[in-house]
Amino acid sequence: MNGWPAIYRPKISSSYNFPSLSIFDSATRSLQSLPRKDLYRLYVCGITPYDATHLGHAATYLTFDLIHRYLLATGSRVTFVENITDIDDPLLERAKRDNVSWEELAQSQIDLFRGDMTDLHVLPPQSYVGVVEAMPHIIEAIQKLIDSGTTYRVDDDLYYRVHSDPEFGARSHLEEDEKLRIFKERGGDPDRKGKENPFDALIWLAQRPGEPGWPSPFGVGRPGWHIECSAIALHYLSPESKDEYSIDIQGGGSDLIFPHHEMSGAQSFSITHRKFARAYVHTGMIGLDGEKMSKSLGNLVFVSHMIKAGIEPMAIRWALMEHPYAEDLMWTDSRIQEACHAIESLRECLSKVDVAPTESVITEIISCLANNIDTPKVISILHKWISETKSGKTGGEAGELSRVIDALLGLAL
Ligand code: ZN
Repeated sequence: MNGWPAIYRPKISSSYNFPSLSIFDSATRSLQSLPRKDLYRLYVCGITPYDATHLGHAATYLTFDLIHRYLLATGSRVTFVENITDIDDPLLERAKRDNVSWEELAQSQIDLFRGDMTDLHVLPPQSYVGVVEAMPHIIEAIQKLIDSGTTYRVDDDLYYRVHSDPEFGARSHLEEDEKLRIFKERGGDPDRKGKENPFDALIWLAQRPGEPGWPSPFGVGRPGWHIECSAIALHYLSPESKDEYSIDIQGGGSDLIFPHHEMSGAQSFSITHRKFARAYVHTGMIGLDGEKMSKSLGNLVFVSHMIKAGIEPMAIRWALMEHPYAEDLMWTDSRIQEACHAIESLRECLSKVDVAPTESVITEIISCLANNIDTPKVISILHKWISETKSGKTGGEAGELSRVIDALLGLAL
């Protein structure tokens, strides 16, 4: 599937030193300093195309864009893969409710998502992969699980024994009862008769009446959500044989920690016999005016609606960068108004001939990003530089700062 157009990234002077990126890994619950590598493999779980693109999505893809941009700035290459769950229960349910075909609904939402990502200056992935187009690779991955003896049937459906991975559960750190509650809440079927363990993961669902199905050696049907991501990541990121981990970063919202990333990590382990991700990175959830932002409450804030209302996309980036990426955020409209003013002031200062010193500002921005993408600190450094410039301080070079802000923060002003 096509991603979205390439986004220009200016070159930064080679005089700046980029430390290794330290990033919070939720599997070890610690800050991990990524080793220096020629090539980093980044996999970010994409949308189910039926409610694109709300602010929660924007916050997630912005965070991984900042990681992507930082790793590129260190001089390494990055292979970035993102999937689209273009066949799934919620998509089928929404299509039925709205009386449209699921293909049509998915296509319209994918188009909207691409447009929003372009507007938000998110660098496109090298591979933007839909589940439907990746079906042969997913079927191949399921076959590998079958061959490894880690699967069983319940009626015509196939399940993966999650405890085939001895580390199952170690990535999400949840008590049994909490795991069970969340599993039920997020589409799991712990109570299904015939399952050997409540957490065993559905990997192939035999075709149900009125639903689409694809032919496979294990019958006509469609894959389970978790195996899709294992298969797409392993195929498109083609892990290096020498690396202890299949990929470097597995990313997504914190609602994917369990069961999704726990299960895709376990299945990948059973396929490759090595650990899946060097670091599991998760972004916080976004609420609105004191409530959780969710489809069921109908209070989603959409990027495309904001842009249509005249809000500039760079202000959305700025507003999201004001809070720590891993923490939940309560959104209010005042955030975007403040961000619009800040962007205006920054633009005004960057257009001046005489500006406050910039070299130390750039060094500080780099160091904040290297330290777990600390964007609130970056924003406060920029606020300080704006007020120094407005108060008449000189000695800086606006052009260089402008290039750094564009290349590292994705703010094209
Ligand atoms: Zn995923």
